[in-house]
Amino acid sequence: MTDRTTRSEALFERARAVTPGGVNSPVRAFNAVGGTPRFIASGQGAWLTDVDGNRYVDLVCSWGALLLGHAHPEVQAAIAAAVSRGTSYGTPTEPEVELAEEIVRRTPVDKVRFVSSGTEATMSAIRLARGFTGRDVVVKFAGCYHGHVDSLLAAAGSGLATFALPGTPGVPASSTALTLVLPYNDREEVAAAFAEHGDRIACVITEAAPGNMGVVSPLPGFNAYLAETCTAHGALFISDEVMTGFRASRLGQWGLDGASEGWKPDLMTFGKVMGGGLPAAAFGGRADVMAHLAPEGPVYQAGTLSGNPVATTAGLATLKLATDEVYDRISLVAETIRTAAGKALTEAGVPHVVQSAGTMFSVFFTDEQVLDFAAASSQDTAAFAAFFHAMLDRGVHLPPSAYEAWFVSSAHDDRAVQAVLDALPAAAAAAAA
Ligand code: PLP
Repeated sequence: MTDRTTRSEALFERARAVTPGGVNSPVRAFNAVGGTPRFIASGQGAWLTDVDGNRYVDLVCSWGALLLGHAHPEVQAAIAAAVSRGTSYGTPTEPEVELAEEIVRRTPVDKVRFVSSGTEATMSAIRLARGFTGRDVVVKFAGCYHGHVDSLLAAAGSGLATFALPGTPGVPASSTALTLVLPYNDREEVAAAFAEHGDRIACVITEAAPGNMGVVSPLPGFNAYLAETCTAHGALFISDEVMTGFRASRLGQWGLDGASEGWKPDLMTFGKVMGGGLPAAAFGGRADVMAHLAPEGPVYQAGTLSGNPVATTAGLATLKLATDEVYDRISLVAETIRTAAGKALTEAGVPHVVQSAGTMFSVFFTDEQVLDFAAASSQDTAAFAAFFHAMLDRGVHLPPSAYEAWFVSSAHDDRAVQAVLDALPAAAAAAAA
């Protein structure tokens, strides 16, 4: 049992004195589950060690970024070699070219531009879509998160195809006045929005398979429908693969639908895995659309550390190591944990559904299949909190919210998987209590 938290508690108190909520990204504060977030001192493979010396199997993997686990020796060596040559020059470098070539090889994009976070990637993709089409309206789906871009921090308006309201104080109504928020997986609502506003819609942006309301797969053909509808109306289809890219499968979520169905997004966004644990993200797409970006075209976009040699080297090393065997291992681990979690919860009589998109998965504490945010919101978050803490006490670090995907890596060996399986029955019993 991991019951020593003295140092994490002391650090949390110091952190709260100097940082809002004591954290630099809200979900880390454990507000959704209560208790003290563990301050992590180191990571190795599938394991985290906190400042009190407790060890945890990590099922967060830096929110999906660490496909190969913590401190992978070859990625570390590549980063160390890059750092020894300097960290940033503000000039073009070879690693940027190599990483761009690798992404173009592995995805349907023709050209790619690097940025430093997924938020910048989606923000820039939307600006480019607006600049390319000369239109202003953006369609997004409730429950899909695309980073903290003002116009995308939007809550659905009050009626069918009405414009959105700010999702947080600090976002002016004018920033969301051109955003339409629709229910996910609902073709009729998409058709209605295009019927009413089609000639004003610049783009539809969607998570390729949502992972930010828990994992919700697109219904068969949904992404294809979005792509076709956009094309029919002269809008662009932006597939946000910041989370799913190089993770849901070798070819991301697109490898699970677009590749076999024969469609391509006009623009895509990437982050997480492609940065190998350092801040790197990207947006890319059709050559004629990307040609509108400065300095080739008129749509402005830039970044001091964009494509910096250390982050691009980490990303390149990661993608080069991300072979079919890596994805086979991750699939197997995901499947084993998914199945065991479902079994433990069934045996404890806890209502739940386990959902997945390729190697990404999550457990909803509700008894009906979740196809959209309304259904995701119906889950029993108190049951999740009890489950979460029982897992944490037994040395398994889950994402501290019921609305997050669980992530595994190729470093999750049999010992790490067994530690998760051992913890599940007691955690399921805690959720039932
Ligand atoms: N898009 C998706 C699908 C994400 O999951 C995230 C982050 O979780 C983002 C965009 C934003 O990325 P970042 O946190 O790097 O700004």
